[in-house]
Amino acid sequence: MKLKLHLVVFGLATLLVTAKNCSAQTPHVAPPPHNSYRTAKEAAAPSSRPKLVVVLVIDQMRGDYVDKFRSQWTGGLKRLLDEGAWFREAAYPYAATETCVGHSTISTGALPATHGMVANAWWDRDSQSMVTCTSDPNAKNVAYADGAATGGDSAWRMRVPAFADELRFQSGGATRVVTFSLKARAAITLAGHKADAVTWFDHGSWVSSSAYGSMPFMEDFVKTHPMKSDYKKTWRLSLSKTAYVYDEKALGAEVPEGWEPTFPHVLGGKAGSDQPDEAFYNQWEMSPFADKYLTKLAENALDQLGLGKSGGTDFLAVGYSTLDHVGHAFGPRSWEIQDTLVQLDRDLGELFAHLDAKIGRGNYVVALSADHGVVPVPEDMQKSGVDAGRLRIPDVQEKIEKALEPFGYTKPAVARIASSDVYFSTGTYDKLKTDPAAMRAVLDTIRSVPGVGEVFRAEELQGRPATQSPIRMAEANSYFDGRSGDLFIVPKPYWLMSSGRPDKTRDRGTGHGTPYNYDQHVPVLLMGWGVEHGEFFGPITPADIAPTLASLCGVTLATRDGRVLAEALKKSATLSHPREDN
Ligand SMILES: [Zn+2]
Repeated sequence: MKLKLHLVVFGLATLLVTAKNCSAQTPHVAPPPHNSYRTAKEAAAPSSRPKLVVVLVIDQMRGDYVDKFRSQWTGGLKRLLDEGAWFREAAYPYAATETCVGHSTISTGALPATHGMVANAWWDRDSQSMVTCTSDPNAKNVAYADGAATGGDSAWRMRVPAFADELRFQSGGATRVVTFSLKARAAITLAGHKADAVTWFDHGSWVSSSAYGSMPFMEDFVKTHPMKSDYKKTWRLSLSKTAYVYDEKALGAEVPEGWEPTFPHVLGGKAGSDQPDEAFYNQWEMSPFADKYLTKLAENALDQLGLGKSGGTDFLAVGYSTLDHVGHAFGPRSWEIQDTLVQLDRDLGELFAHLDAKIGRGNYVVALSADHGVVPVPEDMQKSGVDAGRLRIPDVQEKIEKALEPFGYTKPAVARIASSDVYFSTGTYDKLKTDPAAMRAVLDTIRSVPGVGEVFRAEELQGRPATQSPIRMAEANSYFDGRSGDLFIVPKPYWLMSSGRPDKTRDRGTGHGTPYNYDQHVPVLLMGWGVEHGEFFGPITPADIAPTLASLCGVTLATRDGRVLAEALKKSATLSHPREDN
């Protein structure tokens, strides 16, 4: 069944590529030894393409972090700004600002209304259960180095090929695709449907899936570099205290088990524990040590596979997840966020130096972005006098059931509220659509819950209608028929959707997932092969990354909502590719 689905996905791509691809399978011709006249055919040889595409996604990196903290950077982030193209006003044009959705958008060049990854997890009407965006009943996860793996994951729910899929398919097999992240939903969606190695972290183990290949060198690396060697290490401030903005102790932080609210943070697990436990792995994922480990994994894969030396264009992606864990716990106005970025900047500097040494400066192209931003901790925001708070989803659910009582609906009427999507039990929403009084009662009652801004019905979003309302348009760009909910709750700005009960002692931490700019605005930075240095103020979206990389690599994407960021591309690069029909 899975094979069939893959065929459907690739069948679409096959229809759109011409017979020209057959010739791509013949061995590449070496470039002429001297600076002689280049024919169109020679221009198609490997030297006219980047040797490696590197995609880096920093989970939860707000667009404004660049302006706020760039003076603290000296490594890779600084180099991206100094040498690359910086799109200051990049933002997701949709409402579902979550990890799986953002990574899928970056990797495919399509919006969730097209690629179908509408959330990290959604209510599956067929199985009447929650499914994660990567769960695949036909795949089996495998752990490296005697670790433990559960379940099965792949990209089969992603309804279009990723850029990496198309790159590999259209280059005739010369492309290797390798991705890493702490999260399955990042590593998998960045790679796409097939790949040479897709690796993520699962409760102390490095894991891949039967949907992808597994690499013997990974086994060796994980064995010789056990994470346990980071046990009892300390996350200290990298800069002097005066370099940090905001308060030393972040207000409203949800401090992880075993840590104090301020630096230093010891990776010692639970208080009193004397060996690596669950709390240790949580601390590790929330510390710069995890980013460093991912960088080492990427460098090792580069060396072991000889990425960038295949004669084709290889693909390497890293989803750096630590910033998201840190941001949920400490919020955007914390020293922890700033220090994570300072250290990541150093790691990326090292990664680029490694790429320079192995592949050659200018021979690879880098795209860096984020999957979403984050809202300030509500209690912190309230200090500024602004209306902010926590919208309690269990309250919404309870009130909908109550509102339907006088109309004689079977309980429970609501099957699940997942993210901001309300899913009714089978048949209930169809009945509501023909029962205006009951529908009005439901909508009014949702609007009465503190923190609710608007409610949309599925019929208002289907088919991505033309609208003047940016919120409705963002909701429609996230809407995928059959997968999305029946109703959509939009919180007021600075209100955080919370699954906590009202009687919960006190809410802490923060999150994302709304159609507001603090969740949508992310950095987009390009650097290297074919990219001009510059700062761009025009509005773009992260869906523009894949079409741009495709253009640089001479690859055609079947479906895309994004566009080629031609304003940042060198003319010589854009002109070096022969037309498809040459
Ligand atoms: Zn998150």
